[in-house]
Amino acid sequence: MKIYYDDVFLKHRPVGYHPENPERLKIVRRALEERGYWKNLVKPKVAEVEDLLKVHDGSYVEFVRERCEHFGYIDSDTYVCKDSWISALTAFGCAIQCVENAVRERDLHLALVRPPGHHAGKRGVAFNAPSLGFCLFNNVAGAIVKVKEFFDKVLVIDFDVHHGNGTQEIFWGDLDVVHIDLHEHGIYPGSGALEETDGAKVNIALPHYSSDDDYIHAWNEVVDPILDEIDPKVVLVSAGFDAFSNDGLATMELTEKFYSFAGSKLRKFSVVAVLEGGYSVGLERGLPAFVEGYVKGYEIEEVNPSSKVIEVVKKLKRIHGLPP
Ligand SMILES: [Zn+2]
Repeated sequence: MKIYYDDVFLKHRPVGYHPENPERLKIVRRALEERGYWKNLVKPKVAEVEDLLKVHDGSYVEFVRERCEHFGYIDSDTYVCKDSWISALTAFGCAIQCVENAVRERDLHLALVRPPGHHAGKRGVAFNAPSLGFCLFNNVAGAIVKVKEFFDKVLVIDFDVHHGNGTQEIFWGDLDVVHIDLHEHGIYPGSGALEETDGAKVNIALPHYSSDDDYIHAWNEVVDPILDEIDPKVVLVSAGFDAFSNDGLATMELTEKFYSFAGSKLRKFSVVAVLEGGYSVGLERGLPAFVEGYVKGYEIEEVNPSSKVIEVVKKLKRIHGLPP
């Protein structure tokens, strides 16, 4: 595993309390240090503005740059400060750099970046969301564009508890970008229903309080067959850990089990995992479990999904023409 991290990601910071704050990365660092995984550090590269323009409109990029001159809120829940510009540019560059390295070297390339990105669309707010959801530039979208330079098809798996509406919007209609999104139905940003697809966007909208076994069932039945079919050399992950039980912003009840399982399932691929959400215990326990699953593997014995999730998965397989 390689860790891409720089203290510049601590410089994007709120005045007063905000759940998306520098302490998040300190939690991750402590958790990985305790488990002996804080090593193989790579210094992130800063993106050029022209890289941003491959996924965002110039007027939006300029808007963010101007607003970063002072601390303030650019919408109801997204703040910027003087250093947000350099943090965001480095986060975006880091995701691209991870892809360049992942193509050459099969490994887990973990981008521990802030601000997060998956809610940011071409012109900012995407798919009728009420806000940017703490995001400035869509880091994983930068990674997607870079993967397209090497391969015809791109596969991105987003397991942040919130729907990756920005990513979906930027590549909507691009059938070479297969975006599988596991998220909690009925919470922010409101998009990502099961039926919402252009043929290559797979929205696994799960009910409140879904468990490890619910997620694992959905992965086995929906994610696995798509992974097998595409057989990508590089898999991108929008890695949010806010579906962990009691992480703070949602009701899902995941534990280490799902994250270890997900890491283990991706072992045979080169993986670029770009940090999205995760605000407390998800970062402390979910993120290290994902890393450990990738590094060491993880065996699952028996899975008992809820009847509700079994129905959701059946419906989704019909929508996407997957074998029942
Ligand atoms: Zn989230």
